[in-house]
Amino acid sequence: MIIDLKQIYKLYSNSYLADTDTRNIRKGSIYFALKGEHFNGNKFAKEALQLGAAYAVIDEEKYQNEPNIILVKDVLTTLQKLANYHRLQLNLPIISLTGSNGKTTTKELINAILSKKYKTTATKGNLNNHIGVPLTLLSMTPKTEIGIVEMGANHLKEIEFLCKIAEPNFGYITNFGKAHLEGFGSVEGVIKGKSELFDFLRETNGTVFVNLNDETQIKKSAGIKSITFNSNEIEFMDANPFVKVKFKDLVIKSNLIGKYNYSNIAAAIAIGHYFKISEAAIKEAIEAYVPTNNRSQIIQKKSLKIILDAYNANPSSMVAALENFSLLKDKTKVVFLGDMFELGKNSEAEHQKIAELATTLNFDKVYLIGKAFSTTNVKNAFKYVNFEDFITSNEKLDFKNSTLLIKGSRGMALERILDLF
Ligand code: ATP
Ligand code: MG
Repeated sequence: MIIDLKQIYKLYSNSYLADTDTRNIRKGSIYFALKGEHFNGNKFAKEALQLGAAYAVIDEEKYQNEPNIILVKDVLTTLQKLANYHRLQLNLPIISLTGSNGKTTTKELINAILSKKYKTTATKGNLNNHIGVPLTLLSMTPKTEIGIVEMGANHLKEIEFLCKIAEPNFGYITNFGKAHLEGFGSVEGVIKGKSELFDFLRETNGTVFVNLNDETQIKKSAGIKSITFNSNEIEFMDANPFVKVKFKDLVIKSNLIGKYNYSNIAAAIAIGHYFKISEAAIKEAIEAYVPTNNRSQIIQKKSLKIILDAYNANPSSMVAALENFSLLKDKTKVVFLGDMFELGKNSEAEHQKIAELATTLNFDKVYLIGKAFSTTNVKNAFKYVNFEDFITSNEKLDFKNSTLLIKGSRGMALERILDLF
């Protein structure tokens, strides 16, 4: 059948369920037949209905062979428009987060805090792009009281586009760092790109949360209604290894390592405070949050303490992780770094800088793994062109009672190092 967006919305609002993957169809949902590089969702429309979807939305006429299959011009655009239409029907505050590092961590903390008092719906995992953002919005229901939406970007105008879909009322930018330089061109490009969230909120009379310890945030939020926080109100105590902060005479002990997590925690506290969550509930929520997915996890394996941060890496988060590691008082410290991707023409210079930093800090051994790291010019590091080269090398990984830092881009999958011990 061919129906318009409002009619599709009516069908969607029978269940408030939108699915895109036939491996996880929920009963009564609408299946959106998206296309990827290696798949064509149209081919699975019939299967989705058999698996329990109430309707399937497709964009290739030849698959329109069942009564509950809806033909549209473009499935992705329909999904995005439907999400925006849904968002406008829901009269609720939406908080959007972007930034180079720390979005997911901050989002999870905010969600943990706000869900103490409100029915929240937040981005699941890392679904933060042109598909993930619409799906996050469509996972909200009339029962949702606050929405929390992570927005990722690797080029200009992407955040602007996502804002037009999600129409957030509140925004926070975790930081402006050296990530996705390939798409943004430069750090200035990153600042411009991430600030599209602020620009949207300026134009729509929204509100931003601003970390007063970050000059760029202050500058870029000029002229927007701002809720500010700083290190006097939310005090950093230590990160040894877990970040401890003080807020209104309460000491909050997080399960997050690395001083860089201080600003993520501080932002979540400020947002919780703004939404009138009690200090005790804020403390409880932060202390209960344990990161997953190789994001700064501490793993004890035999006599080794392993800081596994193999989820992603870019120059800013590498510097943060290395500096943090150097502050730890542990006796023997070993570093394994994997290549940082998506740096474009800056790749060589940025890998060189990180390799120099790693080999001049107080570490016992430094392993550099990957094509870019292997060509850096530093002494005192073991270098390997790729992971295979590293595991087949003769260097014996024989450390006892040591602390290990493992960090690299997702594609390097450095969590594989864990299997070697
Ligand atoms: P992605 O772009 O993959 O969505 P993200 O912005 O959601 O990433 P997180 O998943 O929260 O970021 O954290 C990923 C890693 O970034 C952490 O393990 C840590 O190494 C680093 N990181 C987190 N917060 C900060 C911060 N405020 N400043 C610098 N580095 C950070
Ligand atoms: Mg994320």
